[in-house]
Parts: sequence; C-alpha cells; structure tokens
Amino acid sequence: MDVAAKLTKNAIKADAESHIAIDAEVCRAKCTERHCERVCPAALYEWNAEAQRMVVEHAGCLECGTCLVACRHDALSWKYPKGGYGVQYRYG
Ligand code: SF4
Ligand code: SF4
Repeated sequence: MDVAAKLTKNAIKADAESHIAIDAEVCRAKCTERHCERVCPAALYEWNAEAQRMVVEHAGCLECGTCLVACRHDALSWKYPKGGYGVQYRYG
C-alpha cells in the first residue's frame, strides 16, 4: 500500500478553531521562498494572491510540525489541536 492510500485510513476530527496561526504581515514583508507550501505533506498551505496572504486549511493537518520548522521567519504559531480533535492515525 502506498503512502497516499495509507493516509486515507486516518480520521480527522476538525476543530472550528485553527491550531495554526499565520502572521500575514511577516509573510508579506519578509518571505520570498514560502517553504510552507512545499513541505506540508498534506499540501495545506496556499498563497492567496488576491489577498496577498498565506492561508492554511488547518482541518487537514497531520500534526507533523514540519511547517513550523521550515518557516525561517517565525511567522507561524502552532499548537496541537484541543483534546479530542485532530488526526487519529490508524495502522494496519
Ligand atoms: S514560510 Fe513562513 S513566512 Fe514564508 S509564507 Fe510560509 S508561513 Fe509565511
Ligand atoms: S503540521 Fe504538518 S501537516 Fe500540519 S500544516 Fe504543518 S506541515 Fe502540514
């Protein structure tokens, strides 16, 4: 079974409140590389050209923390979702 197929086995209970906050002003003023878009394994980050801001679809987060490490400008505030919310990994 490939990785994409395995990921479909997981369940996510989405919280209406995002556990990821982005400082849009930092993105606009300092970032040219936008690593968050490339490193997220769930492809949750997307640059909104019209609004000139990075947006993230927090409900699909796999809680790997890669985006937090990859952002070189400290534009992200990241915490685990509240208890009972977030990804539930299923193995086998
Ligand atoms: S890598 Fe960081 S600073 Fe750059 S667009 Fe993403 S969140 Fe913003
Ligand atoms: S923690 Fe991982 S899955 Fe969640 S938004 Fe960041 S890179 Fe994507």
